[in-house]
Amino acid sequence: VRERDLIARIARRFDGLVLDGARGFSDDAACLPPVPPGHTRVVTTDAVVEGVDFRLAWGGASSAGHRALLQNLSDLSAMGARPLTFTWALALPRAWLDDVERLDAFAEGAARLAARAGVTLAGGDLSSTDGPFVAAITALGDVLGPPLTRTSASPGDGIFVAGPLGASRVGLRALSTGVVDESASRAHLWHDDVDLAFGQGLVGRARAAMDLSDGLGPDLARLCRASRVGARIDSLDAARAVTSAGRVSLEDALVGGEDYHLLFTLPPGDDGDDLAPAVRIGTVTDGDEIVLEHDGHARVLDADDPAFFDHTA
Ligand SMILES: [Mg+2]
Repeated sequence: VRERDLIARIARRFDGLVLDGARGFSDDAACLPPVPPGHTRVVTTDAVVEGVDFRLAWGGASSAGHRALLQNLSDLSAMGARPLTFTWALALPRAWLDDVERLDAFAEGAARLAARAGVTLAGGDLSSTDGPFVAAITALGDVLGPPLTRTSASPGDGIFVAGPLGASRVGLRALSTGVVDESASRAHLWHDDVDLAFGQGLVGRARAAMDLSDGLGPDLARLCRASRVGARIDSLDAARAVTSAGRVSLEDALVGGEDYHLLFTLPPGDDGDDLAPAVRIGTVTDGDEIVLEHDGHARVLDADDPAFFDHTA
């Protein structure tokens, strides 16, 4: 297959979802619209690698396309941005070049999410590789007002998560053992419950925010380090996801990665009542310790514990 044909196949999937300034991908680069008054333009980049971030056996190439774009849109939401457009660089192994329907499905999965999120494709690049399939996406968005950051949490702030935690990890465990069922793939691959516009409602209100990609424990540790504060988690139960097998374990809620809900803090006096399904799980403290209170016991979480950084532990 020729590159031109592959690009045409992708463009078909993005019919109506192409940035105006891309002029149908006819130029060497795309033109961005001006930044609207009072807005800040933000940019993020994130890649998925076949065999590392997804497996075709789990949900096909369409779920990989969805996932690749989702993690970028989640980062934009974490900054409080409305997504604008994205570009991608795709490295295609022989198997993908021999089976172009795989690329169609990948583009289809991304295009469906793009339509839902109101984001356009601005351009891209295709190359081939002897290694695994790689999709590197760069996404841009605009924030009305000061962007949300990780650095402004203050002692006394309430700590909130925007949705239930741990279901993605439970789903991944099922998929990894060959159980490809509806709830596992929805929780780990599709994340239908993630509100990608949530961050926009936190601008000017939340003190600090980030998206949960590596798990509450390690991500909260990052937020606390960035803000030079500690945290006391005393209501994690409120955020434990319920799956078809019941409530997820405390550990799954604490170290499960790829939930993609936002983690954020609100100043004292803001109880976040109108932000459901967000729930409060704790309080920002002085110092640098992250303390987990559960069943009457308190333990200090070790941010250097490798289990915090292991998606599949
Ligand atoms: Mg992130």
